[in-house]
Amino acid sequence: MAENKRDYYEVLEISRDASKDDIRSAYRKLARRYHPDVSKEENAEARFKEINEAYQILNDDEKRSLYDRFGHQAVNQNGGAGFGGFDMGGFGSIFEDFFGFGQRTGRPGPSRGTDLRYDLEITFEEAVFGCKHELHIRRSEACPACHGSGAEPGTTPIRCPECNGSGQVRRSQQSIFGAFVNVSPCPRCGGRGETVSTPCTTCHGSTRVEQERTLQVDIPAGVDDETRIRLSGEGEPGAYGGPPGNLYVVLHTKPHPYFKRREDDILLNMNINISQAALGTEIEVPTLEGTEKIKIPAGTQTGTVFKLRGKGVPHLQRRDRGDQVVIINIQVPLNLDTNQKRLFKELAKSLNGEAVVEEEKSFLDRVREALGI
Ligand code: ZN
Repeated sequence: MAENKRDYYEVLEISRDASKDDIRSAYRKLARRYHPDVSKEENAEARFKEINEAYQILNDDEKRSLYDRFGHQAVNQNGGAGFGGFDMGGFGSIFEDFFGFGQRTGRPGPSRGTDLRYDLEITFEEAVFGCKHELHIRRSEACPACHGSGAEPGTTPIRCPECNGSGQVRRSQQSIFGAFVNVSPCPRCGGRGETVSTPCTTCHGSTRVEQERTLQVDIPAGVDDETRIRLSGEGEPGAYGGPPGNLYVVLHTKPHPYFKRREDDILLNMNINISQAALGTEIEVPTLEGTEKIKIPAGTQTGTVFKLRGKGVPHLQRRDRGDQVVIINIQVPLNLDTNQKRLFKELAKSLNGEAVVEEEKSFLDRVREALGI
């Protein structure tokens, strides 16, 4: 949609009276930053296309003047799909004109290896206190026999006869802006400029072999579910001398049978009986490091919260820890024996009808009681 397109001057971050030199240098700067092969920015490819489109128009005096007077519609014949016929081969050539190489279409430069992901399940306690784990991974590595050249040791790669060692094949291509020379990697040597006459017998010329590796990962105290730990350089090897990728270990914490986690606090639901709640008592509660005593005052209600300071999860960045939060739940006894029933009835009488007596009360009565109305 033409009206959704950004202003070309805005795209190139220049003023409307920018000179040709300004336009070229703005384009050069932005294209370098957003080129999809090298850019770390989000939406690099979309930005790169936008930058190229803006440059195509503003760098052409005739098109620029049309654009200045009539806007996008004037230079963008079929609305939103206006640049549909203008492919990346054209962009690649322009890029090559500027920088002396076409990253997208020419000889492949060094590129970083692929990142790997490893999903690791750890226990609740391991997440809280940290741990070490061994990982067994399978990854491709540079072939140790040929050191990643793909040529049998003792032989050397030869110049590719198809591209004469340039790594590129060039052909002319028509676009709506005229003819471009489209440069693409040589299909025979894959852009390397050389081919292997005697492929390495270990990797069959592929330059890589699959390897089993055992790695150690240190998991710091206080990690949470879905935390990613990066093992730098432990991914797959880079191409043409590029650095290797990283290995990301994604942690999954198994639930604990009775502890739950809320950020750096550990939550525990603790049942006490009705007489402990009414009379008050001291109870022992489990923590991740043994038991702790809590004093329950007489008249404690369901939902009362007690905090054990510093018994929670260590903060990842600081030295202190969260709390353990104990939430009290009062359990009504089930399956009373005859004696207990008698005692409860006596209690009911002495509570003067406040408690539910033997005649079944209606649901509405119980709601009224609960709400105190
Ligand atoms: Zn090899």
